[in-house]
Amino acid sequence: MFFKSRAFTNWGKNIYINPKKISPKNYNELKKIINKKSFIVHGNQRSYGDVALNKDLVVSMKNFNKIKFFDEKKGIIEIESGLLLSDLLPIIIAKGWFPPITPGTKYVSLGGMIANNVHGKNTYKNQIKYYVKEIKLLGLNKKIIKCSNKRNKKIFYLTIGGFGLTGIILTVTLKLKKIYSPYLNQKVIEFNNYKQFYSISNNKGNHEYSVSWISNFTKEKIQGLNYSSKHSKIKNNNLVFFRNKKIGLINLFISKLIVKNHYFSRIIHFIYRNYKKYFYNKLCNIDEIFYPQDYFIDWNKLYERKGFFQIQFIIPKNKFRKILVEISTFFEKEKIFSPFVVVKRYDEKGKYLNFCGSGYSISFDFEINKNFKILKLFFNSLIKNYKLRVNFSKDLVVNKTNASNYSEFKIFKKEILLLNPQKKINSFFSKRLEI
Ligand SMILES: Cc1cc2nc3c(=O)[nH]c(=O)nc-3n(C[C@H](O)[C@H](O)[C@H](O)COP(=O)(O)OP(=O)(O)OC[C@H]3O[C@@H](n4cnc5c(N)ncnc54)[C@H](O)[C@@H]3O)c2cc1C
Repeated sequence: MFFKSRAFTNWGKNIYINPKKISPKNYNELKKIINKKSFIVHGNQRSYGDVALNKDLVVSMKNFNKIKFFDEKKGIIEIESGLLLSDLLPIIIAKGWFPPITPGTKYVSLGGMIANNVHGKNTYKNQIKYYVKEIKLLGLNKKIIKCSNKRNKKIFYLTIGGFGLTGIILTVTLKLKKIYSPYLNQKVIEFNNYKQFYSISNNKGNHEYSVSWISNFTKEKIQGLNYSSKHSKIKNNNLVFFRNKKIGLINLFISKLIVKNHYFSRIIHFIYRNYKKYFYNKLCNIDEIFYPQDYFIDWNKLYERKGFFQIQFIIPKNKFRKILVEISTFFEKEKIFSPFVVVKRYDEKGKYLNFCGSGYSISFDFEINKNFKILKLFFNSLIKNYKLRVNFSKDLVVNKTNASNYSEFKIFKKEILLLNPQKKINSFFSKRLEI
């Protein structure tokens, strides 16, 4: 059952470790894990940061990948936590259902989606927590705890967005979203200044999903494309997914230039923006709308040896421009740029360390290089000065002081300790923030 893995890493490829790896095959094997001194359960290692890393033992749930129950009429489904969304999608879409929330990659496990309380591009109720009917959790007392909004409520809300620290998620029961076609109608709109950006991103219309890719921002202007979409009613059962394609040498070379060279990146963004805006109304398949980054399944290779990191936080509406100006001034001064900047309107309430707040969520990707230290300092001071809420499930840089400024940090820590008293379940993340 045990083997010493070769270097184990996260999606950002920024921490390499050599833990023992174990993939239990049944509940009895899984229960034995609880006797171990230190471990973390992982899904499909698609977290950019350090939430699924433990230097002693990582437990894979990949053998727990069955659908336990599916009410095809009501769209209620109970799924084992190791099943990947990519394997679930064809099954539920064929029956006219869709995940109520999906992150920007389909190569995630159901357990990972719950533990990170993932959000998507939904314009309304944009967190998986709203759609979870029940979780079966293997607690550290070796008992299976059934929890929901009505039963063991506290454990339920600690587990959704609890970064795997409350126990081992065995199954999750979800309420799916009804769809009539595997296609979506997409609308692409270009924006070139703040006024246009606000007007486009605040106008939800009757779109179910919305996201903006920013190609350039300064004090005067913000440029990019907004993609909004809704499920189509067109009857077409021809389900098309990207083929699992690796990036290959030529694309790797071009992509490396995009993330390394500011000017090349600007040119590519400019060309892409001007090419794409002519497809302003288009019928798209699911991959094009939700998973464009899955086009190359190993795109995280394109950063250098030290990998990359992503930081995502919520900016209140009235501070959006001010904070963006602060960031662009810093970038200009330090000659730093982010090749991928994504903004979504965001309006979510939540407890504990949930990614919640009202305004715009913004994310930046950065290659890890000599600028890592100053970027860390800069973002920590920005977060502190403006009391910004960070997405901890992707985080790598927020310091302990900033995290403990969260009003519910102490309560989260206290409640987790009740379920995980010896901190057997721990990760680089939980150690970094002393949870
Ligand atoms: C291209 C790309 C786009 C993305 N877009 C988004 C996005 O739009 N929105 C968003 O929210 N996230 C996004 N993410 C992040 C990703 O969706 C989440 O990090 C997701 O949780 C990863 O799932 P995973 O199965 O790989 O889990 P892992 O990364 O392996 O683990 C994540 C957490 O879940 C815990 N965990 C996993 N399984 C279990 C279990 N059975 N029991 C207990 N704990 C468990 C782990 O301990 C860890 O804390 C994106 C990632 C990529 C690579």
